[in-house]
Amino acid sequence: MDALDLVQNKKIHCLDHGFVELIDVMPRIVPDGQTCDYAICQMARTSYGQGTKSVNEDKGLINYLLRAAHTSPFESVEIKFHMKLPIFVARQMIRHRSSSLNEISARYSIMKDEFYLPEPEELRLQSATNKQGSDGAVNLEEAKTFSKIIKQISRDSYAWYENMINAGVSREQARMVLPVNLYTEWYWKQDLHNLMHLMALRCDSHAQYEIQVYGNAILEIVKQLCPWTIEAWEKYHPLRGAIKLTSLEKDAIKKCNNENGPRKISPIDSTNRREQNEWISKAQELGYEI
Ligand SMILES: Cc1cc2nc3c(=O)[nH]c(=O)nc-3n(C[C@H](O)[C@H](O)[C@H](O)COP(=O)(O)OP(=O)(O)OC[C@H]3O[C@@H](n4cnc5c(N)ncnc54)[C@H](O)[C@@H]3O)c2cc1C
Repeated sequence: MDALDLVQNKKIHCLDHGFVELIDVMPRIVPDGQTCDYAICQMARTSYGQGTKSVNEDKGLINYLLRAAHTSPFESVEIKFHMKLPIFVARQMIRHRSSSLNEISARYSIMKDEFYLPEPEELRLQSATNKQGSDGAVNLEEAKTFSKIIKQISRDSYAWYENMINAGVSREQARMVLPVNLYTEWYWKQDLHNLMHLMALRCDSHAQYEIQVYGNAILEIVKQLCPWTIEAWEKYHPLRGAIKLTSLEKDAIKKCNNENGPRKISPIDSTNRREQNEWISKAQELGYEI
């Protein structure tokens, strides 16, 4: 079976003119009735010369690999996307060095007249608590003016870009007048291990809204290609369903349990013996009794 057939909606629209589109995936060929998850189990089981096993065993293995941070089997899945995104989003995305990519060249091509133009309702206030974040909506009347100005400046800058191109100025220099809300395009290839890292950071509420839109579009596609891996990632990643405790936080819980006598805590809702044992040792480390 062709792995691309596993995905219903291969092109997801983002913001006003952008998109994330699935182009290719390795494994390209997937045994009938399976997903790209199979390649992860196949890779993880090389040590004893066996490929995939039953559904439960394969799901259990993927869960274990993610809990134990045994990440290399996830590198056996590689996914290639075509993306169209504003330059300021691209600048954040490109910090993920584990990708391989090729971007449209504004030295070679004339850039299209396509800018990210947020509607007035989409303009956000600077956060008072997070210097890097935004919080709440800008007053609508003011936002209408600012939204118009963003449109006007984008239009003017493109007009000057065209004027310079028509006057024979090199494309590599004329682009200097284009603002960072201009859309760029690239092909982006990354393995699943590093994509999960990217999605964890960029789908998170601390990331800028505009890059969250792209993170979530990537997630929607990856979820269809590797559903068991994403289910496990949602459960075990500390930026998703799980939580990471610092040593100070651990000490505070332990102290509370010791001072009040060891408190009882329930076993976890899992049929997997190894996962139950992992919980027992964590609970004991925090001063609980099971
Ligand atoms: C909310 C948020 C705010 C941010 N703010 C800023 C900011 O203000 N300024 C700024 O410059 N950046 C900022 N960043 C970018 C951030 O610092 C990282 O560069 C970006 O998230 C990529 O993460 P990464 O390096 O782990 O990923 P990748 O580059 O994909 O690397 C994946 C992993 O490979 C390993 N790796 C890759 N390269 C190296 C290397 N050279 N040495 C050692 N290990 C390596 C690391 O384990 C790394 O986690 C921000 C990111 C987020 C999510």
